[in-house]
Amino acid sequence: MARVVYVNGRYFPWGEARVHAEDRGFQFADAVYEVCEVRSGRLVDEARHMARLERSLEELHMPRPMSRAALARVLRETVRRNRVDDGLVYLQVSRGVAPRDFLFPAEGTPPTVVCLARSTSRAKAAARAERGIAVHTGPDTRWERCDIKTVMLLPASLAKEQARAAGASDAWFVDAAGYITEGASNNVWMVDTEGRLITRPADKDILRGVTRMTLIDLLKRERIELVERPFTVAEAKRAREVFITSATNILTPVVSIDGAPVANGVPGSMTSRLRGLFHDVAEVAD
Ligand code: PLP
Repeated sequence: MARVVYVNGRYFPWGEARVHAEDRGFQFADAVYEVCEVRSGRLVDEARHMARLERSLEELHMPRPMSRAALARVLRETVRRNRVDDGLVYLQVSRGVAPRDFLFPAEGTPPTVVCLARSTSRAKAAARAERGIAVHTGPDTRWERCDIKTVMLLPASLAKEQARAAGASDAWFVDAAGYITEGASNNVWMVDTEGRLITRPADKDILRGVTRMTLIDLLKRERIELVERPFTVAEAKRAREVFITSATNILTPVVSIDGAPVANGVPGSMTSRLRGLFHDVAEVAD
């Protein structure tokens, strides 16, 4: 658990960290966020996360809360105060506090900035990747701008609960045409029978994952063929390997989909290899 939480310029003990009852993040989900991996106390792919945050803000016509350098200081100080060696840092920016109204508040309303960090176990994540995970599929009930990383996460939360009820550990969204869009909090990949990597193009239906981008860099370096195209649940079930990517999962193999095993039901060698190489290409900040 986070011990210290940054809220609007100050660091509070976890139990005392508060935002206003009329914060627009709370009333309208009018807020964006980023989650960045922390590895050996350093931020992974920070520049890409910050670029995506800026894009999310721009798409929603929200001002930047502070300079990139100032945000970088907040991220590092939150990691430091929470003594995170391996884990994650979470940053959220809302449109601020105003009497409830659908229309945006007056220009100059200060955004609300929250940052927290917590430790995760590298050993536990590695053990999970050794076992692989089971996923459960369901309809994509989200809005049409999934490329913006907003806190509007109720469909993802409901989907993950349904997955848990079905005995799976994660959820995938499937569009009306039967193609997988993405996981509830990750991007989805498969390795086809020719050893090519397949993933959905980063259109408005999915989040442009930072891990996805960095993995594409790795594929180029390793000269592994990438095909960006949508694929169905049936294709994924027939694939040689299937895996998900996210800042907190890196690459994690999927060994079962809706109760059916993928290939022989154990993590594939390509997934394990790419997971092992991932941090060679990821940017690590000081
Ligand atoms: N897709 C969704 C819906 C997500 O919420 C996330 C991460 O939270 C991702 C994909 C993966 O993005 P990243 O690799 O930047 O963590």
